Formats: sequence, C-alpha cells, structure tokens
Amino acid sequence: MGKAARNRVLVINSGSSSIKYQLLDPESSVVAASGIVERIGEDDSAIEHRAESATTERRVAIADHTAGLRLVFETFAATGHDLEKEGVRAVGHRVVHGGEVFYRPTLIDDDVVAAIADLAALAPLHNPANLAGIESARALLPGVPQVAVFDTAFFHGLPAAAKTYAIDAKVAAAHGIRKYGFHGTSHEYVSGRVSELLGRDAFEVNQIVFHLGNGASASAIRGGRPVDTSMGLTPLEGLVMGTRSGDLDPGIVAHLARSAHLDIDQIDTLLNRDSGLKGLSGVNDFRELRRRIDSGDEAARLAYEVYIHRLRRYLGAYLIELGGVDAITFTAGVGENSPQVRADALAGLARFGIEVDPAANTAGDRTARRISPPDAPVAVLVVPTNEELAIARSARRVVERLD
Ligand code: ADP
Repeated sequence: MGKAARNRVLVINSGSSSIKYQLLDPESSVVAASGIVERIGEDDSAIEHRAESATTERRVAIADHTAGLRLVFETFAATGHDLEKEGVRAVGHRVVHGGEVFYRPTLIDDDVVAAIADLAALAPLHNPANLAGIESARALLPGVPQVAVFDTAFFHGLPAAAKTYAIDAKVAAAHGIRKYGFHGTSHEYVSGRVSELLGRDAFEVNQIVFHLGNGASASAIRGGRPVDTSMGLTPLEGLVMGTRSGDLDPGIVAHLARSAHLDIDQIDTLLNRDSGLKGLSGVNDFRELRRRIDSGDEAARLAYEVYIHRLRRYLGAYLIELGGVDAITFTAGVGENSPQVRADALAGLARFGIEVDPAANTAGDRTARRISPPDAPVAVLVVPTNEELAIARSARRVVERLD
C-alpha cells in the first residue's frame, strides 16, 4: 500500500462555496476516493465522501475552506486513507484564470499565489475561491508539492484573429481584454482521446469538441492545437448554458443600465446566474428541462430550441474555420447523456458528411464511443471527460521534473 499510496495525487477543485476532490493514481487512473464539501460558510454545510463502494455523508457547519479541507482529511483518515501519514505525490489544483501569465501547469510558491490573486480582476467569482483551496492545502500538507492547472492554458496560443476583440486596442491592452477560453483541461483531454480513438496522430486531425455541462463551451482544434473557442474574457461568452446567457448583443448591457436602471453588479448577476436555460424556462438542470418539455411547457421548449440553435451556429462557424472536420465530439453532463441534444445538434447535415446513427446514439453505454455510421466521413463521438485525471497527470509531470 505504502508506495502505491505515495504515487497518488489529490486533485482539488475549490469553488466559492464548495470543494470537489479526488484522490487518484495518475498512471492507472484508479480513483481511491472522491467527494464534495458543499455550502461552505452556511449552517447546513455537508460533506459527501466516496471511498471504494462506501459513501459517507455528514452535515456539519463548515466555516471556511480550511475547515472544509480539514474535514476532508479527517474523513479520509476515518475511511482508511490517512493523507498526512501515507503521503501523496502532489496536490493538483484547478485554477480557472491563468491570464497571460500562466499557460503551463505550474508549481505553486508564494509568487504564484500572489500572481493568481492579481488575476482575480479577470475572474472575480473563481480565482479567489481557487486560492482559498490552495492556501488551505498548503497549510495542511506543508511538505507536498502543489501544482496549479489552469482552465485557460490550452487556449493560450489561439491565433490573433480569433482571440482579439474589435474594440479600441489601447483599452484592450490596458485591461487584459482578449479571448482566453475556459474548460481547457477538458477540451485538451477529450481532443487527445479522440485522436487515440481514431488511431491517428493528433496533428492530422481537425475536430470540434462540445463540452456541454452546466457551463458549456465549444472548441475548434486543428492538429492538436485550438484555433477557436466559444468562451471569452470570462466564461460568459458563447453557448447557452444552465444559468449563463452566452452570446448577446453587447448593447443590451447599456440598454439594461439605462432602461431598467440596473447597476453593473446586477447586470453581471442577471447574465451569469439568472439567464441561459434558467432565465428562459425557470430551470437550469437539463433533465428537469426535458421533463417540462415532455409535459408541454412552451417556455422549456423555446429554451431548448435556443440552446440547439446556438450550438449549430458554432458548429457551422467552426466547420468553415477548419475547412472541414474529421470528428465532432460531445462531452460533459449533457453532451455525454443526452442523445436528443446530439441528434438535434447534427440533424440534416448529411451533405456535409455529418450523420448520427440512431441506435448507436441511444445505446446506454458510458464509455467513449462512435455514434456515426461506420462509413460516414465525419466521426461523431461521445467521449466522457475526466478533468481530475488530466489535472493529476499534469501535476505528476511537474513533480517528476523536481526529482
Ligand atoms: P458541471 O458544469 O457542473 O461540471 P456537468 O458536466 O456535471 O456540469 O453537467 C451537468 C448537466 O448535465 C446538468 O444540466 C444535468 O441535468 C445534465 N445531465 C446529467 N445527466 C443527464 C442525463 N442523463 N440526461 C440529460 N442531462 C443530464
């Protein structure tokens, strides 16, 4: 057990009021334990911890991220994994915004912490929460290397034409305004799996990846490198999401300020938390949306149609940007689990070589698989994402360089 345990990486995804975590072996991909601490700072905080087949649940007031992580370590110890005694190879932290500074997995020291804090202006909802997880883990596991893996990193090298917003260039330069892109860990992992599944070198493959979860994004990837992505300066741009609007006329912001007398924070909240599927239909969960559509709810139907319309708009744009594709892939909660979204997103495109085989599309398989007819020119795939594994592997690569 000793050596195997020491090879494991603890992956931490620390949000504003939650900590998701996983203890796994980056080589074998075997997950020893995982869980989530929710509602940090509220009276009814809770931890749900899964180790082997057993789930431990506790409701207890958790004041802050350090208390949350301490409870995680106690729960690990109580269920057979004493992290402080057994040791872990590294802690890998998901960090949402790396700005222009970070585009590789990075060993965390005081300077890196300060730089991530400086980037909070670009990601006020995310980076401070990510930092709280980093600070807590550094305090609780002082001897263990901590590695930051950035959601923006994969998109760092986007072509200038794709990443530049057409606003006053001096204003943009002064405020770091460009397209950064997010969900990069997922797009990188999934697109790499696609090349493997097709049995081709990454540099030969043109592909589009749709990451459709609560947040949603699309990317166009040529030869292993992204050439465009739907999220922008922030994760608000692009596809219709659970609670985010995605693309809209920027004039709407000024109009809301003047006509509805909303201040900028109210508009930010409206667009990030009360828009998207939730704003249109009242629900952000896709399964509930489907139930409402099936019971004849017109608002839910319209929300779904707007969602699909936006997906197809990006599909069309990226098909042309890439000059044709070898593969189109769906991943994350909705992408992996909704045959209807996949079928509707790609309906009527046989003339472009894009077809979905209905039987393969609805097969209840949870593994990576092809859902287009075997002879169709474009491979349509479902590939489960695994951001934790990708973060663990990145963290391991960084610590290997220290040996
Ligand atoms: P996050 O962005 O929070 O990581 P996920 O990737 O877990 O999100 O995706 C969450 C979304 O996936 C929710 O809208 C949920 O309803 C949807 N989803 C999960 N399972 C299914 C399913 N079987 N069918 C349709 N949608 C599903």
